[in-house]
Amino acid sequence: MLDICLLGTGGMMPLPRRYLTSMIARYNGLSILIDCGEGTQIALQKKGWSANPIGVICFTHYHADHISGLPGMLLNMANSERTEPVLMVGPKGLERVVNSLRVIARDLPFEIKFHELSSPEERIELEGGYIQAFKVNHNVICYGYSIVIERKGRFDAEAAKEKNIPLKYWNRLQHGQIIDEDGMHFTPDMVMGPERKGLKVTYATDTRPVESIVENAKGADLFICEGMYGEDDKLDKAKAKKHMTFREAAELAVKAGPCEMWLTHYGPAMTRPEPFMPMVRSVFENAIAGKDGMSKEFVFEDEQQDCG
Ligand SMILES: [Zn+2]
Ligand SMILES: [Zn+2]
Repeated sequence: MLDICLLGTGGMMPLPRRYLTSMIARYNGLSILIDCGEGTQIALQKKGWSANPIGVICFTHYHADHISGLPGMLLNMANSERTEPVLMVGPKGLERVVNSLRVIARDLPFEIKFHELSSPEERIELEGGYIQAFKVNHNVICYGYSIVIERKGRFDAEAAKEKNIPLKYWNRLQHGQIIDEDGMHFTPDMVMGPERKGLKVTYATDTRPVESIVENAKGADLFICEGMYGEDDKLDKAKAKKHMTFREAAELAVKAGPCEMWLTHYGPAMTRPEPFMPMVRSVFENAIAGKDGMSKEFVFEDEQQDCG
């Protein structure tokens, strides 16, 4: 099970009822935060989710609306008595930017580890899955992220019996261990069925619509994409500022074919995204205008019907 929440949906500056763009994913006791603009810790408290399990923080880029909430968030995590290390992931300059913000958040009870992205695509391994970072196209170096939860194949007890594998090894084989004991050699593939479809959420904000987004959002259960401008006639502005219109986001979704798309990162001039949604849905049907605090639980395909 993977829980996704859009903590904020505002781009550039917050509005009275709209926090800055940030999302959080919860899986298996770990929380992954992507972006942390001013007010993100308040949005998290409003949602009622704890800051303590945040073990990974990814930054798309270092514009203030995506990172200025970090010192407060770190202090919040310290107050929640986190002691385990926190991994930070982001483009070039990560350690310098984070350490300069940390001048006002010293003496944390946990260590910060850094993974600075340098290639167009990078994979960060997690327990039971991974984060895929991919470069997008903004006016500073910017990355999108997919969170992928893998799903192992089913354990085949019949195969284990047929191969005369002693019961005491079954559990270890199920957990991926190779058995080399008492002159016997067993490998997990002898008893595990083919890998099953996992879960995938792709997040891309502050970018023009580029091919790397299409490639990375393919097969996603959820594609979260920026929509800075609702009106089609803001296309020139979107191009100049390296952002997207709603229509461009919808066209990306058509190419990538995720189960659903949520829009986020609305420009401050757009107080209501809903009036533009019929147009968006005429391009990509399963599109939703993201709202602050909106969340959804994603379960494995064999535990629920898929989107078809
Ligand atoms: Zn932004
Ligand atoms: Zn930006």
